[in-house]
Amino acid sequence: MYDVIVVGAGPAGSMASYMIASTGYSVLMIEKKKEIGFPIQCGEGITQFCLQYNKLPEGNWIKWKVKGVKSVLPSGYYFYTEEPGYSIDRAGFDKWLAERAIERGAELVNAKAKAIEGKAGKWKIFTNEGEYKGRIVIGADGPSSNIARWRGLLMERHYLLAYQYKFDAKYMKQMDDKWFSIYWHEKFRGGYGWVFPRGEEYNVGVGGVNASVSQLKSFCKSIGIDIDKKKEMNKGVIPFAYKFVSRAQEGIMIVGDAACMTNPTSGGGIQAALASGRISAKKAIKSLEEENFSITLEYDREIRKTPYLHPAHLKCARYLQKWKNEDWLFLGSILHGKKFTDLTLWRSFLAGLKHPSYLLRAREMLTIRKAMKINQKYGW
Ligand SMILES: Cc1cc2nc3c(=O)[nH]c(=O)nc-3n(C[C@H](O)[C@H](O)[C@H](O)COP(=O)(O)OP(=O)(O)OC[C@H]3O[C@@H](n4cnc5c(N)ncnc54)[C@H](O)[C@@H]3O)c2cc1C
Repeated sequence: MYDVIVVGAGPAGSMASYMIASTGYSVLMIEKKKEIGFPIQCGEGITQFCLQYNKLPEGNWIKWKVKGVKSVLPSGYYFYTEEPGYSIDRAGFDKWLAERAIERGAELVNAKAKAIEGKAGKWKIFTNEGEYKGRIVIGADGPSSNIARWRGLLMERHYLLAYQYKFDAKYMKQMDDKWFSIYWHEKFRGGYGWVFPRGEEYNVGVGGVNASVSQLKSFCKSIGIDIDKKKEMNKGVIPFAYKFVSRAQEGIMIVGDAACMTNPTSGGGIQAALASGRISAKKAIKSLEEENFSITLEYDREIRKTPYLHPAHLKCARYLQKWKNEDWLFLGSILHGKKFTDLTLWRSFLAGLKHPSYLLRAREMLTIRKAMKINQKYGW
C-alpha cells in the first residue's frame, strides 16, 4: 500500500510526487507514456516567474531567454508585455521533474490507469500492468483526465485545439528573437498564432476553438514562413472552461490540466500545473500526518483562491472569442509601440471618448485589463 498514488508524470504530477516523497511518504507515479515528455504537446514557453514561484532552479532544459511577449495586432500594431521568460526543452524539463521525484524516493511505473475503486485510505488503481493500492490518489492525468471523470467530479469539459510546427532558425531570419510573438486576429476567435524563438529553432503555432492544420499553414504564409521547411508537427488539446462538482474528494485531488488550471486566454498551463501540484502535496502530507483524509477537501477551496482560477480569466477569454479586428485596432490605437502597463485607466478613457461605443463596453474592457494584469503579475 502506497501512501500516495499519482496518476500522470507531467509537471503537476512530478511536482506533487517530489514534495510528498521528500517528506518520506511512499509515492507511486503511474505514467502511460513510455518516455516521459514525448510526444511534445507544447509551445515550450514559460515565464521566469514560473520558476521562481515554484522554487525551481534554472536547468539545462532552458534553450533561450526572452524579454516577454510582443502582441502583434491586425494592421501591424503591436505592444509589449514585459515579463522575462524562457523557451525550454519541454521533454527535458518533464524528465528532469520526474527524476527529481524519483531521487527523493518516488517510484515510477509505466502503465495506463484504467479504473479506480475504493475509498479514502483504501484506493485501488487498476492498470494494464496490474493493480496498485494507495491511501491518497492525485489525478495529474492531463486534459482528458479520467480520475476526475471516474470519481464523478467532472461535469463538463471543452477543449481548445493547438497545432505547431518547428522550423530551423535559418529559415526565420525576419523574426524577432527577443520576444515571444503572439498574433491576435478575429480569425483565431480568441485564440492566437505564436512564434516562439528558441535559439537554433522556432516554434510556430496556432491555438483556439477553431484551430486546424490549414489555419496553421495559412498563418505561416501570412507572416512569410515557408511551410515546406517545417521539421515536425506537434498538436494537442488545452482544457477550457471545465465544470467540476469539486476538484477534491476525501483522499482524492485533481491537479494541473486535469483540473483545468490552464489559463483560458493564453493556453499556458505549466506554471499552474506546478502550483496545483504543490498545493495538493501540502494537503496530502497534512492528511497523512493527521490521519485525516477530509483534509484533502481543503485543496478545492485553496485552489479556487489562486490567481489561476480568477473568474476574470474565463470572462476575458469569452470576450476575446467575440472580438473583431476593429476591437484589436482600438487596443492598438492606445498601445501601439508601448508596454501593456501603459494601458492606464485614464489613457483608456481618453481613447474611449474618441470611440464612445467602447465606453459602453467599459465592463468588458476592465475585465480584459484585469485578466492581463493578473497574467503580468503571476505569469501565464
Ligand atoms: C500545443 C500546446 C502548446 C502549449 N504551449 C504551452 C506553453 O508554451 N506554455 C505553457 O505554460 N503551457 C503550454 N501548454 C499547456 C501545457 O502543456 C499544459 O498546461 C501542461 O502540460 C499541464 O501539465 P499537467 O502535468 O497537468 O498535464 P500533462 O503535461 O498533460 O501530463 C499528464 C500526464 O498524465 C499521463 N496520463 C494521462 N492519462 C493517464 C493514464 N490513464 N494513466 C497513466 N498516465 C496517464 C500523460 O501521459 C501525461 O504524461 C500547451 C499545450 C498544448 C496542447
